[in-house]
Amino acid sequence: MPEGIVYLVGAGPGNPELLTVRAKELIESAQALVYDYLVHPAFMHLVPRDCEMICVGKRKGFHSKPQSEIQAILLRKAKEGKRVVRLKGGDPFLFGRGGEEAKALQEAGIEFEVVPGITAAMGASAYSGIPLTDRNTNATLVFVTGHEDPQKMDTTVDWASLPKKNSMICVYMGVSNLEPMARRLIEGGFPRDTPVACVEWATLGHQRICRGKLDTISEVSKAFGLKAPAIIMVGENAAMSEELSWFEKKPLQGRRFVVTRSRGQASELSAKLERLGAEVIGLPLISITRNIDPQTKEDVFKEIASYDWLVFSSPNGVRFFFEAFFETFEDIRSLGFLRIAAVGKSTAKEIKKYYVTTDLIPDEANAESLADALIATDSMDSAKILVVAGNLGRDVLIDKLEEARAIVDRFEVYKTEQTDLSEQPAAKQFREQGADGILFTSSSGVRSFVEQAKHLQLGDGALRPKTISIGKITSAAMKEMGLPVDLQAKEASLDSLVEAVVKRFGK
Ligand code: SAH
Repeated sequence: MPEGIVYLVGAGPGNPELLTVRAKELIESAQALVYDYLVHPAFMHLVPRDCEMICVGKRKGFHSKPQSEIQAILLRKAKEGKRVVRLKGGDPFLFGRGGEEAKALQEAGIEFEVVPGITAAMGASAYSGIPLTDRNTNATLVFVTGHEDPQKMDTTVDWASLPKKNSMICVYMGVSNLEPMARRLIEGGFPRDTPVACVEWATLGHQRICRGKLDTISEVSKAFGLKAPAIIMVGENAAMSEELSWFEKKPLQGRRFVVTRSRGQASELSAKLERLGAEVIGLPLISITRNIDPQTKEDVFKEIASYDWLVFSSPNGVRFFFEAFFETFEDIRSLGFLRIAAVGKSTAKEIKKYYVTTDLIPDEANAESLADALIATDSMDSAKILVVAGNLGRDVLIDKLEEARAIVDRFEVYKTEQTDLSEQPAAKQFREQGADGILFTSSSGVRSFVEQAKHLQLGDGALRPKTISIGKITSAAMKEMGLPVDLQAKEASLDSLVEAVVKRFGK
């Protein structure tokens, strides 16, 4: 059996967009993923379906597996011949015990590589507007831990002898020791009015910054409710944060939204919300997989040039259709002279990726409007139409077209199934924290949310979300399934939905 390999990979400070290219590539090809609690649930959509997932850390350190056991897991998985990704928050060699893991691997003769990550202090610095160095204020930078060992309250750090002049001190794991630490720094000669900023959940949508001075920060942080994980920054530059905190100025920063999506797919909506500063929980309610009957595929493509219209009702349909198409043909011209219709803009955008123009998009993105728009072209009588669909597609479209005397073939290219939410990190986060809002973009999203509701019960203290709909059809589905509609987008598009969210929840 071939020997496996272990990659000690830094996942960065939390925001999934701050992952390195190398880390992303390794996660996407991992056969076993060993991860900690600080690793963001959004990474999970990168993980291949058949990858074994092993969580070795729970919150607060003391629930986590002992280091010896983690090392034993790494060795065992590598010996099974797997490509193991050991994903760690921030950088693996910075307060992450990555060195111990590397040593254990080296001693066991197992091949390993180390991939650096953006460490929490750098993430905190950038996203809070506190430069780590500045020509006018400091030339010394210290990374120090408030706990050497999360199990142990004491620290052997000699606080009094840290550089007091022209320095910036970044404390990791320091929240629970903030009071004694500040006291020791003052006793050691740090001016009482040295600016301090504590950056909680740096780089993420729910990042918070608690600001004070060395002699007030302990009190201030209590009132603020500061919790780990946070980086405590002590030094003149900490006072710059208010001017330079570009991230806090984003309209949705500090808000948390739930977006339903399918497993294995990043969501365009999540990206839009995140760019506006929001934190997004992507609930992978369903998984979408290619599902094409080989015989049907052969039949459809044999006749493809005889169709008058090719109709797509979702971006997924477009993807799986063209994937199959190019397995059969080499040239896009094999499509023939047919016309193409798409249910909405996102579907047309997906079609555009194949350098194909969509001839018809209805004003409203739903099956009824699509049928009406096709019928309005006056070309349905005896027309041959190929409708590309998933297993759940509504029959409205086909029924209406057949009523208008079209000859309709349905080409099923994918199927939608529910995922198991009981162990999904994103679902767990939702149960614990709740959200400001939950956004529904389709009736099927509403349906799977309600059907999986038992896995999505909010715990005590979790924020109760407002329910937000992209448009009429989705709202109708929400009402039918007993959900209120707190907010609806003006027109059924992602941009309009985001606009409505900013208007209601923005700063
Ligand atoms: N290897 C990690 C550090 C792990 S120690 C790195 O390079 O970043 C864990 C500590 O990191 C936490 O107690 C906290 O101080 C800090 N930390 C990790 N993620 C953080 C985040 N998103 N925001 C603020 N602090 C964070």
